Amino acid sequence: MTSADPGERLRNLPQVDQLLREPAMETLLSTHPRMLVVAAVREVMARWREKITADPEKVPAAREEMVPLIVAEAVTAVTEKARPALRRVINATGVVLHTNLGRAVLSERARQAVDMAAAGYTNLEFDLATGRRGSRYALVDDLLRQLTGAEASLVVNNNAAAVLLALGTLAAGREVVVSRGQLVEIGGSFRIPEVMAQSGARLVEVGATNKTHLRDYREAIRPETALLLHVHASNYRIVGFTKEVSLSELVALGAEYGLPVMSDLGSGFLVDLTRYGYPYEPTVQETLAAGVDVVTFSGDKLLGGPQAGIIIGRRELVDRMKKNPLTRAVRVDKMTLAALEATLREYLEPEKALERIPTLRMLTADTGALEAAAKQLADLLRGALDGRAAVGVTADVSQVGGGALPTAAPPTFLVTVRPEGLAVQDLVDRLRAQDPAVVGRVHDDTFCLDPRTIFPGDYEALARALRQALGVGG
Ligand SMILES: *Cc1c(COP(=O)(O)O)cnc(C)c1O
Repeated sequence: MTSADPGERLRNLPQVDQLLREPAMETLLSTHPRMLVVAAVREVMARWREKITADPEKVPAAREEMVPLIVAEAVTAVTEKARPALRRVINATGVVLHTNLGRAVLSERARQAVDMAAAGYTNLEFDLATGRRGSRYALVDDLLRQLTGAEASLVVNNNAAAVLLALGTLAAGREVVVSRGQLVEIGGSFRIPEVMAQSGARLVEVGATNKTHLRDYREAIRPETALLLHVHASNYRIVGFTKEVSLSELVALGAEYGLPVMSDLGSGFLVDLTRYGYPYEPTVQETLAAGVDVVTFSGDKLLGGPQAGIIIGRRELVDRMKKNPLTRAVRVDKMTLAALEATLREYLEPEKALERIPTLRMLTADTGALEAAAKQLADLLRGALDGRAAVGVTADVSQVGGGALPTAAPPTFLVTVRPEGLAVQDLVDRLRAQDPAVVGRVHDDTFCLDPRTIFPGDYEALARALRQALGVGG
């Protein structure tokens, strides 16, 4: 039981108008939108009312004592609200395609293209040659066909939409045969069975989780069958006693029954990365060359472009998708198309693409260069952190992320930061509050930074963030 009366304190709470006349608040009002300042003050007041109701002893009873405390909280709240919600993050995790951190980073040219498209009018749906109405899908069609060897293409909002549109067009009200081992969930929100249900197609699972044979597919084919679907097991591998039917076997079976075959590649990529030590995965071109009728993949995974879903394949099938009213609901915007076109253009010179597309540059970074980068960053941090943390360098591995190349573990060198007199979790929390925020990894009470995903231009900002978080010089 408490002796204090919440009623008295609630009555003594200042009015919003009175608070706004406080000098500190007037200063805020001169630099921030009034709407934002008022919202912050209301939020703080609501917090105070809750506090008083829960435990009146926690706050002073007199209004004169309340005001400076409330004003101080409001100043903090305004500063917080004035920061953009979408902020820059230094990705020190070494996960190249980090879905939570926005996946692919765009190339310089793709960024310039986005800026061009955003800043003015464009020929998005206007044919400059004829002066007539044009199609936004035509803008990247030549490039996609040239780079992949496909007959036709269609670009939508993301790969989940691409799969939904393809299934809804080719198999609504009919059956789609899929291996049970390929019924994947990606990132907790994309599940093939659920996308299938949305599309109106009926899922026919064949085989066991670890083994599916060609005869399993054959036995499932009926007059109701519309499509044979292959889904790339993006973010996991079933290892040991396993069997999946190869794409070419599936293509042969499809041909035998006159059924189209679709491959959802997920991450689809255009350049072979095996010479950089990555496990073999068929490229988009190879998948098409195997005779698959429709291929779908993401724009912002290994391709290294903007969020998009790319559909390529036989003209007749793609044309049917273009006529589906759903296409309008999942269409891409001009900034995406600008970035995608610029990204695809980089692939016209594959060797240069490896340098110019940040995703590919990071994935193919030389281990010696990563070691040198880790040492350089460690030296910089040692100088900056004033003994508040023990800084070292250690060999480890990075991750591709984004559900791509799940078994790959490209070697890297980590900078290790072991704070003195501060729990590593507190350091992690404080680094997230910096601007730019810093996100890394924690191993054995040590904060680790992987130079693979850190831009050299961010080293100074990183050192500043760590100094702030460790309270150096303050
Ligand atoms: C990532 C992925 C998707 C979803 O792609 P988004 O572009 O994220 O919508 C679908 N299928 C597979 C196999 C994937 O790996």
